[in-house]
Amino acid sequence: CGIVGYVGQRSVQEILLAGLEKLEYRGYDSAGISIQGDQGLGVVRAVGNLSALKAAVAEQANGDGGVAVLAPPATTGIGHTRWATHGRVTEENAHPHYDPDNRVHVVVNGIVENYMELKTELQDQGAHFSSETDVEVIAHLIALDLDEHGLVEATRRTYNRLRGHYSFVAQSSAEPGTLVGARKECPLIVGRGEDEQFLASGIPAFLAHTRTAQALEDDELVVLTAEGAQFMTADGVAFERETHEIDWDA
Ligand code: GLU
Repeated sequence: CGIVGYVGQRSVQEILLAGLEKLEYRGYDSAGISIQGDQGLGVVRAVGNLSALKAAVAEQANGDGGVAVLAPPATTGIGHTRWATHGRVTEENAHPHYDPDNRVHVVVNGIVENYMELKTELQDQGAHFSSETDVEVIAHLIALDLDEHGLVEATRRTYNRLRGHYSFVAQSSAEPGTLVGARKECPLIVGRGEDEQFLASGIPAFLAHTRTAQALEDDELVVLTAEGAQFMTADGVAFERETHEIDWDA
């Protein structure tokens, strides 16, 4: 339902939580964030509103959950507010979702229509799924291609296997400081900062930080690093996207 991504210099947790707050008006049943820590990707999710997520984050930061990777100064991460379409409203079904080796994390809006066929194929290869959602297959598929093709190409190949309507953002412990976004019939917008970049399903999520935006169109991907944004078509052709200045307030 709501997507936020950040890569830059600042502590990412606060930026993700504040960004999700700006998307709250769209409604949601659970929420989560995932950040790139020193020891790999750390994820925290909670059923209910963002105060439930914040409490869970605080608990983890205090070490109660043993997830030291959530401690600052992580500066790259993704966040999500979920409106369940496939799978119950549970912590396991909240995003971010990940592959069995915890190398790829994704947040996804929308619906993957051919997930059953993809999930069955992965399960036949021995994959274990940790959620009931339609979107966990995305993390699995990217992870399978990661070593051979790298995060960007693995995400592009995965995108081309999906049917339905969705936008999503992926990150991997194998390639710190990078986010890859993709869009098909669900909004995804880049916010351009200096030494920091944002990605969100709605402009209000990053309007407190930048007014310079670049919208993705259908069948386009974007690769974000702190330095900038590189666009490509789902066919792998790089292109430039003009920026526009947002002149309204959220
Ligand atoms: N289909 C996904 C799910 O049920 C994403 C729903 C959403 O857009 O929040 O988890």
